[in-house]
Amino acid sequence: MLRIRIHGRGGQGVKTASQVLGSAGFLSGYQAQDFPLYGAERRGAPIVAYTRLSPEPILERGPIARPDLVLVGDETLLQDPLAAPLGGADESTALFINSIHGAEDLKAHFHLPVLPVAFDLTDICARHIKRGTVLSSALAAVGARMSGIVEMDTLLTAVRMELSDLGVGEEMIAKNLDLAREVYAKAPSAVFKPKKREPLSASLMADLRQEDVANAAPLILAPANMALRKTGNWRERRPEIDLNVCNGCWICFIRCPDGAIHMDENDKPAIDYDHCKGCLICAEECPSDAIKILREVTSWA
Ligand code: SF4
Ligand code: SF4
Repeated sequence: MLRIRIHGRGGQGVKTASQVLGSAGFLSGYQAQDFPLYGAERRGAPIVAYTRLSPEPILERGPIARPDLVLVGDETLLQDPLAAPLGGADESTALFINSIHGAEDLKAHFHLPVLPVAFDLTDICARHIKRGTVLSSALAAVGARMSGIVEMDTLLTAVRMELSDLGVGEEMIAKNLDLAREVYAKAPSAVFKPKKREPLSASLMADLRQEDVANAAPLILAPANMALRKTGNWRERRPEIDLNVCNGCWICFIRCPDGAIHMDENDKPAIDYDHCKGCLICAEECPSDAIKILREVTSWA
């Protein structure tokens, strides 16, 4: 059985990627299972999805604790202990990371157990579909290629099938097919080393450990504690204010849903990047186009 885990952020199409992979595996003659697991269900929050493919009936259920293949759609997740994309990965796990950094640099910087496959998926997506944050077809294409069991034509059939089911129009489907073709051709096929696996046990079938209620429950247990939850690492894209263009109208301050902008004594806005989630409402609302949108990348300085 091939156990694939896909990590990304809300809005990146991680769930759709797992569905495309599941369908592509099924169309390739395998039994398939795919499903997502949402945490805080909101754009930018860490999300994980799972795909199991097997020539035999799949009896396992629940999250995949020891993956054969991990696809990381957002490099910033590698530093997020709650997302833990490397959980259960070891030297026998094949790993893909969407990053502008090279494989050797990523391995050294993040102390990865294996040399990953790494390239800039965001850039390829931006080129084909004009939205570098929607990675569904691209992540599925990497997974299909690295799995070594899905042919390109089968992948393309699965992309078309799943996107049609979502109501995506013909023009956008055609762009996604071109995107999937390019990514499939670029990714290498992975070599899977055999994993030592224990017989099926409850802990392997499902690992639904719950965090302590103080962290996991949607309850406010103490006053004024929101600032303690730093959500700045949910950001895929980063708003940056050009103070030379800003006219100090306060609109971004008023519209930011997270109170992450404050006005200074000169009536100029400043962004609290520890808590800004990157919803980009401020950039949308700014009447002076003073807020630029930049791609968020991990600072290694
Ligand atoms: S992107 Fe702008 S509006 Fe959204 S949380 Fe950040 S500062 Fe606030
Ligand atoms: S909305 Fe734009 S112009 Fe107004 S304060 Fe914010 S950045 Fe400045």
